[in-house]
Order: sequence, then structure tokens, then C-alpha cells
Amino acid sequence: MGLLPMDGRAFINLTDRFPTHLRIAPIDVDEGMPLPELPAPDPRWALFLDVDGTLIEIAKTPKEVCVEPEVRTTLCRLSDAFNGAIALVSGRPIETIDQLFQPLHLPTAGLHGIEVRNAADATYRVSNNGGSLTKIRETLEQFAKKTPGILLEDKGTTLALHYRQAPEREEEAKRLLADLLATHDEGYHFLQGKMVLEVKPSGINKGKAVEHLLTEAPFAGRIPVFIGDDVTDEDGFATVNRLGGHSIRVGENGKTVATFRIESVRQLRAWLVGLSEAILAGTEAAKG
Ligand SMILES: [Mg+2]
Repeated sequence: MGLLPMDGRAFINLTDRFPTHLRIAPIDVDEGMPLPELPAPDPRWALFLDVDGTLIEIAKTPKEVCVEPEVRTTLCRLSDAFNGAIALVSGRPIETIDQLFQPLHLPTAGLHGIEVRNAADATYRVSNNGGSLTKIRETLEQFAKKTPGILLEDKGTTLALHYRQAPEREEEAKRLLADLLATHDEGYHFLQGKMVLEVKPSGINKGKAVEHLLTEAPFAGRIPVFIGDDVTDEDGFATVNRLGGHSIRVGENGKTVATFRIESVRQLRAWLVGLSEAILAGTEAAKG
């Protein structure tokens, strides 16, 4: 079992949480940072990971994010550790996720579960009962155009209205959306995320995507673990709780049904490195 490349960053000792045979990997965390209480690693897990605010830090605009090489390395190792039972579950389209994580090509649920790509590389699109976003899109486009700092992200079947650069417009944006959906309700609703209002089809969510993936290999029969940071992840948490799995929310803020919390993206990454090491070490030990 190889270690991740050394580049002079801090070490963290994960051995009191994981088995003593665990190797210690260099990771990007503060030395001595306390680790939160999280479930003990189990090789029977299937992992479902949100992307923005979970695996990677949120940027000023959605296009400015970057996925560091260490994150790809960790995901590869987790995929080995859990026999491929790892999926990304995001509000972004699958196509954008692939661009961000290339050359990785993981099972992925995009657009909050409207599109799902399984481990066999087949992609399903969940129908939204033929509702149309046209009127809502037009109005939001006009609003974004005339309001500095408001950004409309058009993902085709969902919309995201970002106000990170104009937080004083939050109430105005929410009122506009509420009025719009009341007038043009064609099966859509909106959810408030971190400095973003997400318009998406009712009845489709990240939890449904997780359930769908769990019907197929290599996810079927495994214990689901959902990790996310925001309101749209709550459906994922509720689903895995119901199925006897574990739910982990990244960040200290926000009401949640998740049974565990971890403070930050950096802490989660540290935990994921330790998790892959622990499971891979266990697998090696069992073999030999
Ligand atoms: Mg997120």
C-alpha cells in the first residue's frame, strides 16, 4: 500500500480513530486538529458524496471552483477500498462534474438526482412530468441582468440563482421566486442553499438518486453513507437514515437530520484519507 506523495504539509495522527496498523498519510490539515466523532470505518459501506462545500470549497461563482489533485487521489483510493461503491451526488450536471474531476469518471447523480449515471456507465434521466421552466427562466434572466451581483446558472432542467456577491438582494430574490412559482407552478419548487436559490422539479431529490443507485451493483446490499453540506443534501441524509446508514453534514451551521457533523471541507478530506487507508489496510491484512 503506497502513501500519498509527500510535499511537506502537516501530518495528522488518525490512529486513535482507526486500527493501529493504519499508515499515517500526509494531508492538508493543521497539526493537532481534533477529529470529530464519526462512525467507525466499515468495508461494507457505499459512499455518496456531495461536491461543492463537501469535497471542494465553495468559490465566489460556480465556475471558479477547482478540484485539487489530492481529492482525485483520495476518491480513487476510496473507490478501490469500497469496490467501486462510491458516487458523487451534486446539483451540477454530470457533464460539469466530469470536467471538474477528469480523468475520473465515477458513478454520479447530477442536477439533484434528475440524471443518474450508474457504475455500468448507463445514464438515466428522471422525467419531471413535462413541466416547463421557460417563464421562470425568462423572468430570472431579466432579474439577473438588471441586478449587479446576481448570477443565474442555467442547468437546463434546473436553475440556480446565486446572490453571493449581492447578499443584500436575498429577500428580493426570494420574494420574486415565491411569486413566480405561485403563478407558474408546473411542478417546480425552490430550495435555499448557501447564497443560492435552487429551482428544481418537485419530487426529485438526492435521496431518490441514492435509492436508485442502491438497487444496482456494486452499491446494492451495502450500508449507505451520505455526506453533504447543504439544504439539498437533507433528502440524502433522511434516506440513508431510513435505510440504516450514516449521514454526515459538513459545517457547523444549519438545521440538519444528519446524525454526524464534521467541521469543514479540510477535516472531511482528512477523514476520507484515513478512511481509505483503514479499509485498504484491512483488505490487505485479510488477503495475506
Ligand atoms: Mg454542497
